[in-house]
Amino acid sequence: MTYVFECLSCGATTDHAERPAGCPDCGGPLEVAHEDLPDALPDSDRTDLWRYADWLPTEGLDLDSAGAPPASMGEGWTPLADAPHLAQEAAADFDAAGPDCLLKNETTNPTWSWKDRLASVVVPHAVAGASAGRRSDGADRIATASTGNHASAVAAYASRAGIDRVVAFLSPSSEPPHHRQIRAYGGESIRLTDYGERKRLLAELADCGWFAAYNLDGRYTGQPYVYEGYKTIAYELVEQMGESPDAVVVPVGAGDGLYGIWKGFRELAARGVVAETPRMLSAESTERHPLAAAFEADAESVGRDEGPEPLSTSTMGTTSGDHALAAVRASGGAAYAADREAVEGAIRAVGRDGVFLEPASALAPAVVSQAFADGVVGEDDTVVAVGTGAGVAWPGKTAGAVGESPTVEPSLDAIGEEVPFGLR
Ligand SMILES: [Zn+2]
Repeated sequence: MTYVFECLSCGATTDHAERPAGCPDCGGPLEVAHEDLPDALPDSDRTDLWRYADWLPTEGLDLDSAGAPPASMGEGWTPLADAPHLAQEAAADFDAAGPDCLLKNETTNPTWSWKDRLASVVVPHAVAGASAGRRSDGADRIATASTGNHASAVAAYASRAGIDRVVAFLSPSSEPPHHRQIRAYGGESIRLTDYGERKRLLAELADCGWFAAYNLDGRYTGQPYVYEGYKTIAYELVEQMGESPDAVVVPVGAGDGLYGIWKGFRELAARGVVAETPRMLSAESTERHPLAAAFEADAESVGRDEGPEPLSTSTMGTTSGDHALAAVRASGGAAYAADREAVEGAIRAVGRDGVFLEPASALAPAVVSQAFADGVVGEDDTVVAVGTGAGVAWPGKTAGAVGESPTVEPSLDAIGEEVPFGLR
């Protein structure tokens, strides 16, 4: 569909074909502004996010006969399940029933996190110039940096798009499953001794002609397309529920995911598809919570939080985005932070609801009790926690929440001493 880039800071519009690094007027970040969105969500047989092709920036992309980029592989259209244990946990300190809690299970995406939504839209745009015969405009090699989920998704979709040079810089705290995953997809995963140098390295590679699938502070990275991938979560929720939920809780690092979901709801409201938009609640760690601090202080802009590295590695950034702060405020939401005990409790609660989340994802369910205590979420409300990534990728960081398996000789007496319930 046809679209322009619009500046998130000043509202100026610019032609996306120019591939601007930022707003030509003020240097601010850009987003996709669609010129002709439909009046209804699709009646489509597709069970992935490309069912929303009419709501996505497809102009300039080569699509297959089914209307999707050839690299797509079933990402999106993830399950939404009730989470009774989470609801119980949220109201544990009150003489009241908890809110209706639902979990959007993003761990069922092809590379086991919501980053597939981003990669599914960003990677085809990165290679579009090449596939249209303008190789100088299109990427033939991609570099990225990540604690794990983002690089895994980029590597998978880049390989499927025919890119055979993918380099991913991982943080020292990343765990082996992500390294294996990236290498299986054909990427080169590199563990940096100093993850703080990633942006410099990516900028140097960008100067050598690499496409950096990363936010390089204003350099062109395809960032406007990032929100387009995430926004499909809003569309799916409305299709799955028949209306907007009362609140959506999202773990926040840079805040692109929360902002993207809010953009999706805004677009639906503007087209008259929904009457109401949800309150957007952000979830960070108590160790590092720049967004919650800015929200509490009524600050204009998000600052830095150089606190110790939290258990929730995937959202451990020391700053967040002003767009996410604006989304939380505009939606009537709130910004929260959860401590390690709450995160580990949430991993166990949501686990009993059948989903094994990584610590960063568990931030979302972990703050529902705070929102309930504040009255931001009430007993009659339906709240959706976005479960962004899978616990299986983080064996070391989830061990504290769930424990290790004992090794026991094969007798019921010996086993009985290791389990908290009777065997006979
Ligand atoms: Zn601007």
